Amino acid sequence: SCLSDSIRIEDTDITVKCSVGACIWPDDAAGLDDLLNHCTASLYDARHAGGNRIHFYSASLHQARHERWNLVEDLRRAIDDRSLDLFYHPIHGCGNRQMVGAEALIRWNHPHHGLLLPDDFLPLAEESGLMVDLGRWVVERAIGDLGWLLDHDEGSLYVSVNASPLQIGIDDALSSIPSRLEKAGIDRSCLKIEVTEDRIIENMAETSRLIRNLRDAGVETLVDDFGVGYSSLGYLRELPIAGIKIDRSFVANIGRTEQDETVLSAMLNLAAGLGLTTIAEGVETVRQLRFLEDRQCHYVQGFHFSEPLPREQLRQYRQRLPLTSRVATG
Ligand code: C2E
Ligand code: CA
Ligand code: CA
Repeated sequence: SCLSDSIRIEDTDITVKCSVGACIWPDDAAGLDDLLNHCTASLYDARHAGGNRIHFYSASLHQARHERWNLVEDLRRAIDDRSLDLFYHPIHGCGNRQMVGAEALIRWNHPHHGLLLPDDFLPLAEESGLMVDLGRWVVERAIGDLGWLLDHDEGSLYVSVNASPLQIGIDDALSSIPSRLEKAGIDRSCLKIEVTEDRIIENMAETSRLIRNLRDAGVETLVDDFGVGYSSLGYLRELPIAGIKIDRSFVANIGRTEQDETVLSAMLNLAAGLGLTTIAEGVETVRQLRFLEDRQCHYVQGFHFSEPLPREQLRQYRQRLPLTSRVATG
């Protein structure tokens, strides 16, 4: 406590923060080098937890950190050696069931851990500063796949890409989308961006600039996970967004929770009133589909139609649909 007392130097009170990393000999390590390494690791933990505290060495924590660090290294290599993949989740018209597009979802085929889902490694990518490289890879790959899909298809379709907010403002991968599409000979309406609601509000100035520039260049932005973040609706008026993707938690409660049904209906009304496109996520049952159809939701996405598919399987999925279901309208 003598350390936490402030010291007065001339007119200023100065408080010193103190973090301590500790380990115990001989339980934690026998040799001096290992003891010092463990102390340093514990000190790092103490600082990471906000500082001003003592952290004792823990073998299980150390192991977990080591594994995380290995995974970060694996991910860095995966971005370089292209062992990541994009799967595509079909998007259908709610009333006519026409497939209009697909959402690109990242997958990582890890040599030891098998197929990893975004939630297994995207937080790690964000923390370790790999998100910008990863985001650039996603954009490049999605445009490549889109060109391939359009070449192998009689209809037309769009691909939507999830944008990490960490890319916004510090990376040109998103702002260069229009020119990349032009270079690839692909119409700009064939690629859309999805940005989550909370992240738009967190970084309003940068995000609105990006969305406006993309819109002016013909690339639309959709608000992802709509309804679960901030309930601030003001940005819907201010930003030139094309539509909203209603979070699947609302869809899951159709037929279960009346309140969620009311909120869902209100969101669809609000979006319609503002002239926004509506896409409902996580549609798994006919009942949910009917509910959304009755309330004039425009598009739907979910396991009722298909799981996310690799590029080649998406092409086959499209081919099995009647030709009338392969015309993109929005
Ligand atoms: P999201 O953008 O909300 O994507 C929808 C997620 O819901 C996907 O999970 C999809 O597989 C799942 N889903 C779709 N329909 C259904 C359904 O009917 N039932 C159920 N139970 N689930 C359904 P996934 O692929 O694990 O992606 C999780 C999240 O990771 C995405 O949520 C998105 O926020 C993020 N993500 C995925 N790919 C990328 C990427 O390339 N870049 C960035 N920045 N984020 C990505
Ligand atoms: Ca999304
Ligand atoms: Ca979503």
